[in-house]
Amino acid sequence: MQLKKDIIIAIDGHASCGKSTLAKKIAKELCYSYIDTGAMYRAATLYALDNNFVKNNILDKNLLVQNLDKINISFKYDTELEKSITILNNKNVEEEIRSMRVSEQASPVATIAQVREKLVDLQQKMGANKKITMDGRDIGTVVFPQADIKIFLTASADVRAKRRYKELTEKGQNVDYNDIFNNVVTRDKIDSTREESPLKQAQDAILIDNSNLSVDETYIVVASIIAQRFGNGVKF
Ligand code: C5P
Repeated sequence: MQLKKDIIIAIDGHASCGKSTLAKKIAKELCYSYIDTGAMYRAATLYALDNNFVKNNILDKNLLVQNLDKINISFKYDTELEKSITILNNKNVEEEIRSMRVSEQASPVATIAQVREKLVDLQQKMGANKKITMDGRDIGTVVFPQADIKIFLTASADVRAKRRYKELTEKGQNVDYNDIFNNVVTRDKIDSTREESPLKQAQDAILIDNSNLSVDETYIVVASIIAQRFGNGVKF
C-alpha cells in the first residue's frame, strides 16, 4: 500500500490482544519500522530480575531507578528470522523477555516515572522520522499524541488468555492457563490505574474489539482505515 504522506501509526490496548501482530503486519505492508514498546519495558524488567532487584516478589524501585543509566535497550533486525530482536546491554533477550517471570514483574516496573521517562524519550527518537508503527499502552496519549492514526485494541480477557496460552505452549513453554488469565487481568488493572501515563483510549483513537475477529480480519479493518485516510487510491 502506498500512502500520500509519511505517517505515525499508534496502536494501544490491553495485554495480549494482538497489538504487536497487527503492528508488525502493517509495518511490513507499508515498509515502515515497527517498534514494540512493551519489549522495552520487558527488557528493563529482565535487568531488574537478573540483578536481584526483586526479592520475595517485591520490586525495589529505588534500586532500579539508581541503576537506570546502566540499562541499554535497542532493536536489531534479524534478516534470517525476518523480525526485530530486542537487545539488552549487547545481549539478545528476545525470547527471555516473553517468559512468565518477566510478564509478572513488567507492569510494576512500568509504573515507575523515571523508567517511563527514559523509555518514552527513546521511543520519540525512534519515531522522529515518521514511517513507523508503534504499539504499547501510551503511544497515542503520551509518546505520539500527534500520531496520524490511533487504534485502541481490546478483546475479552478470556479470549486474550486463550490466545496467549496457545502461543506460549506452541513455543514449548510449560504454562498454566489460569496463571496466564490472572496475569492478563492483573496487568490490565495495574496499567490502567497507575498514576504515570495510565492505559486509556485517546480521545481520537478508533476502538476495535477483536474478540471475534481473526488476525487477518483485524488487519483488514485497520488497513482499510489507513487506506481510506491516507491511501493514494492504489488497492492494497
Ligand atoms: O505489550 P506488552 O504486554 O509486552 O508489555 C509489557 C508491559 O509493559 C505491559 O503490561 C505494561 O505494563 C508495560 N507497557 C507500558 N507502556 C507501554 C508498553 C508496555 O506500560 N507503552
